[in-house]
Amino acid sequence: MLLFLHGLRSMFKKWHQCVRHCASCGRSWGFWDWLCSDCERLWVVKIQRKERRIHKNIRHCYLIDWHPGDRQLSSLVYSLKGAGSYSVFFKYSPCWGAIMGSGPLFYPSRGPADHASDMARALAKSNLRPVQPLLQLGTAKQSRLSRRGRQQRAFSPLVSKYQDVDFVDDIVTSGQTALAAWRALGQPTKMTVWSLFYRKSLSL
Ligand SMILES: [Zn+2]
Repeated sequence: MLLFLHGLRSMFKKWHQCVRHCASCGRSWGFWDWLCSDCERLWVVKIQRKERRIHKNIRHCYLIDWHPGDRQLSSLVYSLKGAGSYSVFFKYSPCWGAIMGSGPLFYPSRGPADHASDMARALAKSNLRPVQPLLQLGTAKQSRLSRRGRQQRAFSPLVSKYQDVDFVDDIVTSGQTALAAWRALGQPTKMTVWSLFYRKSLSL
């Protein structure tokens, strides 16, 4: 009897891990990883790869313009916090297009796994590329730092042997993190930054 109850409990636990609330409309008890099928249909329309330049050597490819004034989008962005974002990034990875090349996909690492590492792993898997963390010095949260503080953020020195480098981050704001990474990588001729969101910096 006890064994039966134990089995039932672990079955329920497994099932509970698979079902989720939709991050947009809140519909519950579905086997979706982020959005329900109805919301996903609406959401996919908004996704389109866009490009801009951060620097003459740095191209930025992203999917979604995020303006914090857009409340619906902001709540979706915040809903990505927490576990399970790897599967979301993996699902949307074809939207960025193929990431050609054979070198590692670099990502900023503050130590524990976060969205940048989840996204880098997802893109690496779908493009058959290795990943490599760039260790960011300092532990203060980026959002709490002043602009000057963000500019001073540094990576531990790592000069890449590649002249065409790919760097993955979940959100790009002022581009200072990407610039610091580019410097730490030895200022390669071509660097592409892949991000899900681009949030225009208010201070620029
Ligand atoms: Zn929904």
